[in-house]
Amino acid sequence: RSKAEGRNTYRFFEAKMGEETRERRLIEHELRQAMSRGELKLVYQPQVQIDSGEIIGFEALMRWHNRLRGDVPPSIFIPIAEESGLIIQLGDWALLEACREAASWEEPLTVAVNISGVQLHSQGFAQKIHDVLLKTGLPPHRLELEITETALIKDMNRALGTLRQVKSLGVRVAMDDFGTGYSSLSNIRAFPFDVIKIDRSFIKSVDKNAQAAAIVRAVLGLGRGLGLPVLAEGIETSDELKFLIDEFCTAGQGFHLGEPASIEHFDHIVHANSHVGEKKAAAS
Ligand code: C2E
Ligand code: MG
Ligand code: MG
Ligand code: MG
Repeated sequence: RSKAEGRNTYRFFEAKMGEETRERRLIEHELRQAMSRGELKLVYQPQVQIDSGEIIGFEALMRWHNRLRGDVPPSIFIPIAEESGLIIQLGDWALLEACREAASWEEPLTVAVNISGVQLHSQGFAQKIHDVLLKTGLPPHRLELEITETALIKDMNRALGTLRQVKSLGVRVAMDDFGTGYSSLSNIRAFPFDVIKIDRSFIKSVDKNAQAAAIVRAVLGLGRGLGLPVLAEGIETSDELKFLIDEFCTAGQGFHLGEPASIEHFDHIVHANSHVGEKKAAAS
């Protein structure tokens, strides 16, 4: 391979990197104005108890529809928001919006909100949670914060302190995407989690794939041993669900059980009894 060729390859990569950096800056620029332009919204995905099929709560997921780019997926804009620090504003907005929404739901439906490591490690995080609960009137036990292991590792001691503060408010904490990233079994013991969410990469074809099945069984055993419920993410087929029923998995989430949608789509579920209540009130 000639020197010139090497140089050209280098230039190619340099140009490509420049392009990517520019693209990220453009997205960041648009994202900065997304909130004030009303381009952000939350959708909600049902979380279901496996044995009864009952909906126990919803995970709030952020959606961004940009005027120039159309729908931008979270896998693109969340990392950019994290690197630029914008995730603090976006996260504050999502937390307030989700809690305000969930405060109107039937007891005991919960709302799960994803929390990035940047948020968790930011100054006054626990106080912020406290303020949002006070402001919205959402009972603390109906809020669940979803945190990945990767969010903990930056400063384990600080993360532990913050999680303990949050837990003392009565809020629930979920370990999200379990089994990916820098998984360590000691994390599950050291941190005060209320539920383990198995990453969807292990649920995919779990009914057909012996390795995935072995890993899922192991995590279910871990949950049982530690007295922690386990929620399976990304259930897409009835066969995957059947496997999880047979293995006594606690809860599940996935396209097969319900796709993320605007909350209006779930009105009849989240306000079921209040309609009865209204009718009763009207009749009396
Ligand atoms: P996550 O927290 O693990 O959320 C679950 C993701 O799996 C969601 O992707 C959801 O739409 C998707 N999903 C649910 N069921 C299925 C299924 O059966 N099959 C497949 N293939 N996917 C399924 P989404 O909404 O694109 O979000 C991706 C990630 O972006 C989330 O992963 C979360 O880490 C992050 N994210 C989303 N909203 C927020 C937010 O408000 N704040 C923060 N910090 N992160 C968020
Ligand atoms: Mg999540
Ligand atoms: Mg997450
Ligand atoms: Mg997840």
